Amino acid sequence: MADAGARAPGATPVGAACLRLALSLGLALGLQACQPPAAPVAPSASAPSAVGQLRGSSASWAALEQIERHDIALPRQDAEALQSLLEQLPAGSAERLEALSLRATLLANLGDRTGLDQILHELEQWPKEALRPAAQLAAKLARATQFSKNGELAAASQALAGLAAYRPGPVEAGLLWRAQLRLSKVMGDRGEMDEAINGGLAALKLAEGMDSHWRRAVSLANLSFAYFRAQQQERATATVAQALAEVQLDPDPATLNAVQTSRFIVYADQGDGRVALEAHAQALAAARQMKSDTLVSLALGNSADYYLRRGNYAKALQMAQESLVLARQTHDVPAETLARHNAGIAKIGLHRVEEGKREVMQAIAMDEQREATAYAADGWLELGSYLERAADLGGAIQAYHQARRLSDLVLREENRKAVLEAQARYDDEQRAKEIALLNHDNSLKEEQITARDLQLKLWGALGGCVLVSAALLSLAYRRVRKTNLALKNTNESLRIQSERDPLTGLANRRHFQAAIKRLADQGRLSGTVFLIDIDHFKRVNDVHGHAAGDSVLIEVAQRLRHTLREQDLVVRWGGEEFLIVVASRAADDARLLAQRLLDQIGQQAVQHGGQAIGVTASIGFASFPLAPHNLAVNWERAIDLVDTVMYMAKAHGRNRAYGIESMEADDEDSLQDLAGRMEAAWHEGRVQLCSLQGPQAEEAA
Ligand code: GH3
Ligand code: MG
Ligand code: MG
Repeated sequence: MADAGARAPGATPVGAACLRLALSLGLALGLQACQPPAAPVAPSASAPSAVGQLRGSSASWAALEQIERHDIALPRQDAEALQSLLEQLPAGSAERLEALSLRATLLANLGDRTGLDQILHELEQWPKEALRPAAQLAAKLARATQFSKNGELAAASQALAGLAAYRPGPVEAGLLWRAQLRLSKVMGDRGEMDEAINGGLAALKLAEGMDSHWRRAVSLANLSFAYFRAQQQERATATVAQALAEVQLDPDPATLNAVQTSRFIVYADQGDGRVALEAHAQALAAARQMKSDTLVSLALGNSADYYLRRGNYAKALQMAQESLVLARQTHDVPAETLARHNAGIAKIGLHRVEEGKREVMQAIAMDEQREATAYAADGWLELGSYLERAADLGGAIQAYHQARRLSDLVLREENRKAVLEAQARYDDEQRAKEIALLNHDNSLKEEQITARDLQLKLWGALGGCVLVSAALLSLAYRRVRKTNLALKNTNESLRIQSERDPLTGLANRRHFQAAIKRLADQGRLSGTVFLIDIDHFKRVNDVHGHAAGDSVLIEVAQRLRHTLREQDLVVRWGGEEFLIVVASRAADDARLLAQRLLDQIGQQAVQHGGQAIGVTASIGFASFPLAPHNLAVNWERAIDLVDTVMYMAKAHGRNRAYGIESMEADDEDSLQDLAGRMEAAWHEGRVQLCSLQGPQAEEAA
């Protein structure tokens, strides 16, 4: 039964499954079976406010560490305990800061945005100067936790930018440690394994400085997971053994759970799985001992993943269903989503395709509802790969298409945030620099006026939202004008830079947004659009390394540019995806160009470090307005259509191009209807497609 889905080696759907394992581990750190403090603890008589002795030995610090050791095992209970503690902790004190930081993590995990916003507000208005950097870091950590909880990884790492500048002493070491761990996990989730490992080592070093067994154990568990994901199996195994030894020195269920979960993951793909199962049993026992529904539900979710990956769908379904019951009892939406997703996938594996599909889609809808768009995208992707194997090609194409739609959304949003943040940071730094410069050689009065003027001008330049007063402007010095000019130039180069993809030098999406306005008259597109996606590119990275992958991208970009004309728009659309818009809309031109693109990409292997790497791509294309009814569409819809046929080219064997010749649609609605079931509409003859084959394997080296 279970094996009928026949998993080709290397084709296991580890993408989403791994990510969710990662997520669970990210959540499962902490300690101590001990109950949270029954009664609020009075603040210490001598509130340790001085820099350098932030972590006092008072009763409140002990209570806080207890809760910290639980991590997210008992979120509601601990959030409440912290709330009563906070009522007693004086404003501006180091203990209060710690309590707020711990509570923020719990609220982020509980999805309590209102509560979290209140904490962020207090942290941002921190009254005591000496603790302001720490308050700032606590706010960054809280935001990063919230972002990563929703799968917004770029935003999460962005939130922790500049972490290296903080030092223990001015900032309480435990807070720094938690931030470092978070960063390591986020980087791991993003696939930036070097940074995940470096961050993990930094966390370990901090834990060592704090002379704390449980922190060391948690750090080692995290680090072994990073090694595992970086495919350094030996180090992963050795590190998790160290973690296990460390936790024995000061054991508690939450840390045991974290260590055994790592051990389970590190051994999950090894041999007959006996060690993994033993570790899993221990993780589960620790979670049960703590009466932590959160950890029990996560452990069950992890084991559902484990069985899914081993093709034991019946067992996977059983685990997912048990996990689901718990998650619903505790109103833990992310855990419920994971359980539903896994249950649905298991059902597809058991040939209950329609039922399974519905359940997975329900899980995705829940992810979308809580705006965890990145997870929803992963959900579609995994659904697609299982449907493909269950021979539901139409369903698979639709799922892939949805996955892309959502990842586009995430990418666009992340790009926007990243650009805005870069701009804001740049302006902040620049402003500080300019003002410092002026302060050097101006009289106090002059520099105040000048600085203010400069500031106003900058704000004007930034968003035009500040009215620059004429009186102040008239006071501007020549030098100020000069610095402003320099600033403007740098802003221009920043703008140009932000429209280029640094790896390939091609235009990026940001540039595309601006350029497409020129190509699409009143939003309606005229011309031909090609979407190119390199085939099995992940394998290039896996087999030849990331640098080889980069070389392939650079070379493919060059071949594209070589094939096209100056006036054609060539955009790096995503990791290994390129979008081309040309002005011609003649069907013959489009076909010829598509064939040339296939040939140029596939005919000659890419050379990298003495290796010849064969490359092919799948292409979707269409000319607009659409034949035969000359139906005009906006560019989003155009890309959507091209994307759909590109996925059909993938599903029908890759190394080929599918072009839309005509669609029997004379308005938006009928177009949408046909686009939603492209494969079927093609067979019914309501859509005409042309299919072009790329160069054969022997030619492609
Ligand atoms: P398919 O044929 O279905 O398109 O398979 P694929 O492996 O090409 O597709 P998938 O989307 O699974 O993998 C794309 C990979 O591209 C994953 C990502 O790690 C890699 N990637 C994205 N950007 C870069 C980059 O800038 N450099 C390198 N080396 N790899 C990248
Ligand atoms: Mg792709
Ligand atoms: Mg690809």
